[in-house]
Amino acid sequence: MPELPEVETIRQSLSERLGSARITRIEQRFPGVFSDLSGGYALPLTVEGLRRRGKYLLIDLCDDRGSPLILILHFRMTGKCLLTDGGAEPAAHTHVSLFAEDRDGAQCRLDYNDVRRFGRIWLFSGRDETVHPTIRALGPEPLSDQFTADSLWQSIRRHPQPSVKAILLNQAEIAGIGNIYADEALFLAGIRPSRRGRSIRKYEAVRLHQAIRDVLLLGIGHRGTSFRDYVDGLGRQGSFQQVLNVYGRSGAPCRVCGTPLQTATVAGRTTRSCPVCQK
Ligand SMILES: [Zn+2]
Repeated sequence: MPELPEVETIRQSLSERLGSARITRIEQRFPGVFSDLSGGYALPLTVEGLRRRGKYLLIDLCDDRGSPLILILHFRMTGKCLLTDGGAEPAAHTHVSLFAEDRDGAQCRLDYNDVRRFGRIWLFSGRDETVHPTIRALGPEPLSDQFTADSLWQSIRRHPQPSVKAILLNQAEIAGIGNIYADEALFLAGIRPSRRGRSIRKYEAVRLHQAIRDVLLLGIGHRGTSFRDYVDGLGRQGSFQQVLNVYGRSGAPCRVCGTPLQTATVAGRTTRSCPVCQK
């Protein structure tokens, strides 16, 4: 599932060509993936910018009458966007296609492809993504100034019973972290994922705050983690999978101490950790 660094990479990869593009047609192949809740619009739709909130990609639009709209994409398990010249037929499992002209007037097509069909796309009028209730409930962006060591410490204190990993995965506490970056951040911070919130000390929360920012920035720097099928908006793989410390490395030697990494189920998710480096 694309997490914050993957969605940010998709945003960056699409921005250059899709920014200022004019969408001339929206084609839906499989009903249920795309929901038009805008109340109507006049084509073409001009793309005014691409943003991200947590694991959501936001595309700001303006219709032919000058009314603002927002397209919200949530990729969930296997969703992906692919921007092409539109010459080839859409791949299998393409549920929605946006036909567009880029800023140079060249034809292009953005295909939303999703094998498992858990992902969703919504079109709303206006420019405020918090019209979507799940986005309204999101916690702070972990790379913004709103996410501080103290805000993380308060999140942990609000949840004494759940594991620290469950707190990191809770989108209402921190937006955008999933299984990969939770495991990596806890390894960097030297904290065992199964420890309950109440056992975490403040100095550990400070370390974890820094570790979260470090792994997310590293993930973006490597253009995401292509573990199974993630590619960016132009079909390019990321490379963070080559330097992961724990995720996907069950039984492999810890890169720091050489001890075989352990696998357990924590917060309902397969979780890898080092029994020596993580206390
Ligand atoms: Zn170790």
